[in-house]
Amino acid sequence: MIKISLHWKILIAMLLGLIWALASENINLVSFNILWLSPFGDIFMKLLKLIAVPLVLFSIIKGVSNLSSISELGKMGTKTILLYLTTTCFAVFIGLFLVNQIGPGKGFNIGEIKKNSKVSSIQEQVSTNSDESPLKFIVDMVPENIFLSLGDNKAMLQIIFFAIFFGSVLILIDKKKKVQIDILIDSLNEVFLKMVDIVIRYSPFFIFCLMAGTLSKLSSGSDGGIVEIILGLGLYTIVVLLGLSIMMLVIYPLIMKIFINNFSYKLFFKSIAPAQLLAFSTSSSAATLPVTMDCVNNNLRVPNKVTSFVLPIGATVNMDGTSLYQCVAVVFLAQILGFDLTLSNQLLIAMTAVLASIGSAAVPSAGLFMLVVVLGVTDIDPMYIAIILPVDRILDMCRTVINVTGDATVCSVVNSWTKKN
Ligand code: ASP
Repeated sequence: MIKISLHWKILIAMLLGLIWALASENINLVSFNILWLSPFGDIFMKLLKLIAVPLVLFSIIKGVSNLSSISELGKMGTKTILLYLTTTCFAVFIGLFLVNQIGPGKGFNIGEIKKNSKVSSIQEQVSTNSDESPLKFIVDMVPENIFLSLGDNKAMLQIIFFAIFFGSVLILIDKKKKVQIDILIDSLNEVFLKMVDIVIRYSPFFIFCLMAGTLSKLSSGSDGGIVEIILGLGLYTIVVLLGLSIMMLVIYPLIMKIFINNFSYKLFFKSIAPAQLLAFSTSSSAATLPVTMDCVNNNLRVPNKVTSFVLPIGATVNMDGTSLYQCVAVVFLAQILGFDLTLSNQLLIAMTAVLASIGSAAVPSAGLFMLVVVLGVTDIDPMYIAIILPVDRILDMCRTVINVTGDATVCSVVNSWTKKN
């Protein structure tokens, strides 16, 4: 029997899901997809999230406690954060450059705005966000009850904080007193890694259902079909996609070429393809995290001690695709509404987008909600987000691929720096 590798199976499942979603629009089977296929997509998302939280917890504790000293932890932490910030700065710069040069919002007909229910919930977020301290995200990072945080999918940063704290304390205590904990954490980590393996094996089936279900939901909630939605906001979509492609095909490889000896373009993309495809189908870098770790660990051969520290942090704080999209979206809306954004306005937008992407949860549509925060530095009414809503889910799928690719890039570079030291 021919052995097809996993990323091809996932790709085929995605294509079949897309073709089936398009075909079912014509043969009136959209509700079949929503009722019978999308539940399997939901089960898949739940399984991924189920594994993600304990995996992050145990792998960070293991990764940190395996470091020989607190200063090694500090060094790796600094490199990781600096690299993550650098890639995000590239992303916002590329986004702003493209949207200013191409001007997708110039000559747009504003009469076509459709308000819908999502906008009011976005506006509710604005009113609660307006008088918060800019340092709130740091305060929120510290959990007051780790058991509550473990039960809250949006509290990933709190879990990371706890895991780093716990792992660092393990470095500090007497070796004899922590042997059992080390063994226990190691074994639990293995159990969750095995769960990832099992879920990935069946992922092509789930991904087919997820694609068909999600696309059918998208088209049933709008006046036009899937293709019309994309065509309607064509140039804006193209600018975001162009920016994301530059990040993936030029910037990341360039960074790796500079810092990694014998970097192979083909090997890198082949190795992380399953994670990228999963990011595209789930729109969540948190849900994709177990697979990203698996790919970087097993295919790119980055040791566990690096992946288990760098990737969970990246999944939560590094969102290059999201910040690029936010810059393009804000300037696009300004162009449509006839706002003149000065250079300093745009720098402020860029800075806010970098911070907003750090604060965004790694779940579907998080970037859209954070867009409200970025719009807050301009005079644009968040209600106008309605204009870009129709294509948001599709762009979310694409920006999540970039978020995950950025994490894998930084992890590979941190690994090569660690080896050299
Ligand atoms: N869905 C993205 C992620 O999980 C976040 C976003 O841009 O909405 O990485």
